[in-house]
Amino acid sequence: MAEWLCGGLQNRSREFDSLSPLHGDRMKVFNTLTRKKEELIPINGNKINLFVCGPTVYDNSHIGHARTYVSFDVVVKYLRSKGFDVTYLQNITDIDDKIIIRAKESGKKPSELAKEFAEKYFEDMKKLGVDSVNKYAFATHYMKEIIEQVRSLLEKGFAYEIEDGIYFDLSKFKEYGELSGRKALESEDAVSRIDDSVNKRNKGDFCLWKKSKLGEPSWDSPWGKGRPGWHIEDTAITGKEFGPQYDIHGGARDLMFPHHEAEIAQMESISGKKPMVRYWMHSGFLNVDNQKMSKSLGNFITIRQALEKYDSQTLRFFFISTHYKSPINYTKESLEVSKKSLERIQIFVDSLKDVDGKEMFSIQGFKKRFEEAMDDDFNTPNALAAIFDLVRDANRLISKGLLSKKSAEEMLGEFKRIDKMFSILKEKKETPEEIKKMVKEREEARKNKDFKKADEIREKIKSKGWVVEDSDSGPKTRKK
Ligand SMILES: [Zn+2]
Repeated sequence: MAEWLCGGLQNRSREFDSLSPLHGDRMKVFNTLTRKKEELIPINGNKINLFVCGPTVYDNSHIGHARTYVSFDVVVKYLRSKGFDVTYLQNITDIDDKIIIRAKESGKKPSELAKEFAEKYFEDMKKLGVDSVNKYAFATHYMKEIIEQVRSLLEKGFAYEIEDGIYFDLSKFKEYGELSGRKALESEDAVSRIDDSVNKRNKGDFCLWKKSKLGEPSWDSPWGKGRPGWHIEDTAITGKEFGPQYDIHGGARDLMFPHHEAEIAQMESISGKKPMVRYWMHSGFLNVDNQKMSKSLGNFITIRQALEKYDSQTLRFFFISTHYKSPINYTKESLEVSKKSLERIQIFVDSLKDVDGKEMFSIQGFKKRFEEAMDDDFNTPNALAAIFDLVRDANRLISKGLLSKKSAEEMLGEFKRIDKMFSILKEKKETPEEIKKMVKEREEARKNKDFKKADEIREKIKSKGWVVEDSDSGPKTRKK
């Protein structure tokens, strides 16, 4: 690491200390900027302003997106459960090269295409139980702020105008690369969406404002008709909603460079205040069958396709079984394992409603373990491990008919609280009369040793979405 870079990091935390009254909470967050786990201390009391990069709406969102947005949904809900007052803001990129190209291919207007896929994105999020976002900010609704930021960067000498647009001059911002540990010159890679013009001053300079070509969507500006570059929309949105400094910026790991570096360069150059963001949180990659997901490999899975095979509870359970920062591998096997594991919790929670024993079971130890796991940079796999230990221990009492109703009710309350964040459980459904009748018929058949008929009825029950399981105390039904 370069010397100036280390110095830069120290300066950043010093400047922020003066802004931060101690919250006194022991919540720890891994900060990509400092590469350390740090205590989460908001800028302003218990108020947390949090921004996560949203989708570019030119196509259906994929399961990599789902992983990121479920992760931050859990993060936000946990922070709220700890008493933090979180404002969760997400942008929607509704103007971009990709949108223009796709619109042309499909014979639609770019704005129509963007609207269509934004709606689909909201539907996907709803189905996934992602409902913690306070505001979705569309880039095109912030044109005034975008133009104002570009103007300010030009005025202060951080930007320059050439024939096809206005570019940020990276030679004017020495901290560029601090977040990702990369240098501007290393900037060219496939996912980077680097803007290329032969007349750029420095390799890696990114576009702030693109002058529009004929037939492209455009907005009036002091530099003629044009549209924003990709990075400027985020700082225009957060600048307006949060101001020049805020608490947490999240996003997928592959956005760290150059997108998040560009955001820092823009906002810190405009405001002169560092750092723009106190904590940077990045979610890990999602692979499919051990490979990077891509359309050319044929392993590209949209959220819609995934939801045809697995319910949202299973998908969420699969995501949170791995720490948000770690890579995750989506395979048929790993999803089946998730489904089975989750079933164990679901059956346990459902069984809590029927217990009637005398023995008390304290969940204080469990609660402590769960909270410690989540306080430690949202360690959901450890939190789930605590849940599975509780299920195992309490099941010992349940199987002997010993667990008291009071303890069961306490556990149910705790599971309800946890599931407000995780959303992995289903309401226990009362068995309909029709199913009950079929279960009775099946019992008759079994008694008469007509196992063929018994199996047929079991299949019929299954086709109606119910499962019948035989236990020592008779057949039990549950929703599939
Ligand atoms: Zn972004």
